[in-house]
Amino acid sequence: MRLLEGKPVAEAVYSSLHGRIASLQQKQIVPCFTIILVGDDPASQSYIRSKKRAAENLGIRCDLYQFSSSETTTESLLVLIKKLAEDPGVHGILVQLPLPQHIDSQQIIESIPPSKDVDGFAAPNLGTMFLGEEEKALLPCTPHGIIKLLEYYGIPVEGKNVTIVGRSNIVGKPLAVMLINRGATVTVCHSKTQSLTDHTKHADIVIMAVGKAGFLKGSMIKPNSIIIDVGINRNEERKIVGDVDAASISELASDLTPVPGGCGLTTVAALMMNVVTAAENFVTDKPNK
Ligand code: NAP
Repeated sequence: MRLLEGKPVAEAVYSSLHGRIASLQQKQIVPCFTIILVGDDPASQSYIRSKKRAAENLGIRCDLYQFSSSETTTESLLVLIKKLAEDPGVHGILVQLPLPQHIDSQQIIESIPPSKDVDGFAAPNLGTMFLGEEEKALLPCTPHGIIKLLEYYGIPVEGKNVTIVGRSNIVGKPLAVMLINRGATVTVCHSKTQSLTDHTKHADIVIMAVGKAGFLKGSMIKPNSIIIDVGINRNEERKIVGDVDAASISELASDLTPVPGGCGLTTVAALMMNVVTAAENFVTDKPNK
């Protein structure tokens, strides 16, 4: 079984960004995005460290605003986002999810102008993608990273049967649309799906985005299928593992993305692409402002 490592994919993306960042710097523009973190979730802090590290390595500025959960309200975040939205030196605004329960996440996401929505979660960007005009949108990072990974490893999707398990607004649903845009036949499964194995066993490519350690077993897939594991979970030994039981699928699957080292890295790379695109759009006054 081949391991589809995320690192070379991310490196290829970063190589493609160097020239674009240099062109911006010649125009005195340093691509810059802001991360807003509320609370002290250790997983969020670890994701933010990866994003900051990638940005620093590329010469992208990344500012972090960190607040305690008790001192933060929906209103106080809206005020901050408005200020950042009006700041011409900030090209991207990213609110690290999940937000504490007392904050209205949807209202917060919707308050970010589409031109600075570097997570690609806002309705206008999703709508543009839905209409098949992906080049005009800031795309959601995890799905876009998976598309980059499939392209990098030369895995065609046109005409393939793809089963996605998970229908979240940040992974499963937008990824389904991006794959349909590329000619795949897509089945999206979720907790109400009956006979899940019928759908995973039928698929040429299975994409797991459930959040349950070792959920996909070898008995649920067909021989030579390609498995993309988006899940990030901690097992009983506190080790990070995916949604796939790698040991039981290894004899059957042809390819698998490792966890860690797979989709997490390509997600960060896709975020960097969005920050650079947002900065370029700011200079050229492109339509998704
Ligand atoms: P989510 O919002 O919790 O969604 C989970 C999905 O799994 C839901 O659609 C849910 O169905 C479905 N599900 C739950 N139990 C199921 C079952 N028994 N059978 C079939 N479907 C089931 O999660 P998410 O935000 O999409 O994230 C999914 C996983 O990916 C998590 O582990 C997360 O940490 C990880 N993740 C990784 C990255 C990365 O960069 N690698 C990025 C984002 C997320 P219902 O809709 O019916 O409830």
